[in-house]
Amino acid sequence: MKVVTMNHCITNEKWKLISTKLAARKASRKSEVADGRSVSRRGSRKSETPVPTGPALKFVEEFITNNSIAIFSKSWCPWCSKAKEVFNSHGLKYGVIELDLDENGANIQQALKYISGQKTVPNIYINNRHIGGYSELYPIFETGVLDDVCSGGQIDFEYDLVIIGGGSGGLAAAREASGFGKKVALCDFVVPSPLGTKWGLGGTCVNVGCIPKKLMHRASQIRNDMSDALDFGWEFNKEGVAHNWEKMVTQVQSYIKSLNFGYRKMLMENNVKYFNAFGSFVDKHTLKLKTDTTESIISARNFIIATGGRPKYPDIPGAKQFCITSDDLFSMKHRPGKVLVVGASYVALECAGFLNGLGYDTSVMVRSILLRGFDQQMAEKIEEHMISCGVKFIKNTVPTSFKKNDKTGAITTLGETNGKKTFSGAFDTILLAVGREACTAKLNLEGIGVKIHPTSKRIIVDEKERTSVPTIFAIGDVADEKPELTPVAIQAGKLLAMRLYNMSTQLMDYKNVPTSVFTPCEYGCVGFTEAEAITKHGEAKIDVYHQEFAYLEGVITEKAPKSYAKLIVLKEEKDELVIGAHIFCPNAGEIIQGFALGIRMGAKKKDFDDLVGIHPTVAEVFTTLTITKSSGKSAGATGC
Ligand code: FAD
Ligand code: NDP
Repeated sequence: MKVVTMNHCITNEKWKLISTKLAARKASRKSEVADGRSVSRRGSRKSETPVPTGPALKFVEEFITNNSIAIFSKSWCPWCSKAKEVFNSHGLKYGVIELDLDENGANIQQALKYISGQKTVPNIYINNRHIGGYSELYPIFETGVLDDVCSGGQIDFEYDLVIIGGGSGGLAAAREASGFGKKVALCDFVVPSPLGTKWGLGGTCVNVGCIPKKLMHRASQIRNDMSDALDFGWEFNKEGVAHNWEKMVTQVQSYIKSLNFGYRKMLMENNVKYFNAFGSFVDKHTLKLKTDTTESIISARNFIIATGGRPKYPDIPGAKQFCITSDDLFSMKHRPGKVLVVGASYVALECAGFLNGLGYDTSVMVRSILLRGFDQQMAEKIEEHMISCGVKFIKNTVPTSFKKNDKTGAITTLGETNGKKTFSGAFDTILLAVGREACTAKLNLEGIGVKIHPTSKRIIVDEKERTSVPTIFAIGDVADEKPELTPVAIQAGKLLAMRLYNMSTQLMDYKNVPTSVFTPCEYGCVGFTEAEAITKHGEAKIDVYHQEFAYLEGVITEKAPKSYAKLIVLKEEKDELVIGAHIFCPNAGEIIQGFALGIRMGAKKKDFDDLVGIHPTVAEVFTTLTITKSSGKSAGATGC
């Protein structure tokens, strides 16, 4: 018999325990066989397998006893290879019998079926415990408990999975995991902002992010539509039109409440236990749940951390006392008045855009550049257009203090431009949009060995969203170096649950994630920026097809932004591979979503050219791009 026996992950005490158990089982099996019963090692299931001959039975029993991990395999079987790969990749030594290469293979397989009740291979035992085949082994390693199982640790807990954070990622993971019949719990708790704002279940996107932002973006666009309406022949007294901030906030908040309710209902319908409590780890399988009045403990085999992030505050006088953030803006009871927005990325520009559009005097304080990380040609177009809408930009400036005048309520802001104390201004509302920090500080991650990035404080995860503790995962904004976007958190949560509980091997693909900046004129993009493409491939290898254009709906108002689209291509690839698409125009988000599919599927410039446009639309511009930047020809707007 050819046996590959490798070393064992088993202690002497455990040896004794196993030998005793095995001896006891042998004795009981003997009596069962004697009185005509046969019981498998899996439990009390009766096997119809005829009682095999003594030597094979003895061999199998000894092999299982002598190898802490014992695999009965067939050399040609792909599932057996996969099982061996699992142990190899975890550095675990195993003993293996290739039944097809063994002269007594048939007898051994018959004995194995008698003992385990399983006919197929691989047939795996760990520490004398029957695991089953690859499909039973799979969840053990995918959920990170393989080491626990090998060292004889506990593997049954109150919950299969507990999710910390009920935002975009957490809710998606909970729904998916419960769909696979797992016992799932989710805890969500909103720590009030320094000004006391709090909200319901659903996380940032629903309560203080995408949803209220997009609704307010729409509210501000209606003002433009009304102004356009006059040019299109509608007649009404423009002076008589006013915007009611309080009414808009009430409407938006009422919609948000319906979403909060919907999520509670979804959890209930999916049998996910919901705790409105703040979670922090006691150990890697135990979570403390704290409300304002109670404290309790739950245990789970696996955890997903999906705690997202919260706005940062600069460490300067008055920031937390007098300024608001996006956490407070969307439920603000009074009109914002004259606004200063500090920061120049997504949150700052989107909020500045709709506040200005709603009629509030709005300034943006920019430390360095607009939209770091985005295509800078497109960022310039956004700035130009926002200036034309009336937004003021205070460049190269940072605030140094905020002080409120108790009589007038105005907040005096002092700032430094290029290091010199030159800026001073009074505003009714200061909106800080200087980035977000991950909610990791109070989870006791250090205490349980979950590693966070030293500067970003986000959780370090591998390509399977696994943290440094193999039973704990992290998704969404709290995970390091991932795009902070709702669909990314949702997709990551869903795919993770499928990998954990449905034998999926699909990883979250963080490349070519499309996004849109909802500034007054939107900007949508997917793939490389020009600067990234040059850095990655070199200037000589890329080209840019581009076109400025007038969108038809705006042509007679003369107030419409000059729209612009560009495709970045790899010239050397046959038919030119498109590696980036950018568009600046109304509803850019809607347009780029569809084209992102093409780029994901490896579309070439020729595919874009072969695609028949829909006329007259804005999106058709991508089907008619002929001017390259390298040609030096003008990409100025042309007729239809
Ligand atoms: P979150 O949605 O932040 O959810 C985390 C939840 O966990 C929160 O409810 C939090 O209170 C809770 N929590 C934290 N710690 C604990 C704890 N210890 N115990 C229990 N609960 C805890 N993305 C887009 O795709 N499109 C947009 O248009 C867009 N607009 C945005 C506009 C703004 C103003 C902001 C701020 C963000 C925007 N985003 C947008 C980003 C998007 O909101 C986030 O990427 C997304 O919400 C991240 O989801 P998440 O599940 O990782 O975390
Ligand atoms: P970002 O981290 O993207 O940007 C922070 C901005 O604040 C930068 O302009 C930065 O300037 C500036 N800043 C940082 N510190 C200071 C300071 N001390 N003083 C002055 N300015 C400062 O954060 P956001 O909050 O805008 O966005 C967070 C994330 O939320 C985004 O990455 C995005 O993924 C997501 N989001 C998505 C949206 C969408 O999909 N439409 C909308 C809104 C948010 P500098 O460049 O100099 O560092």
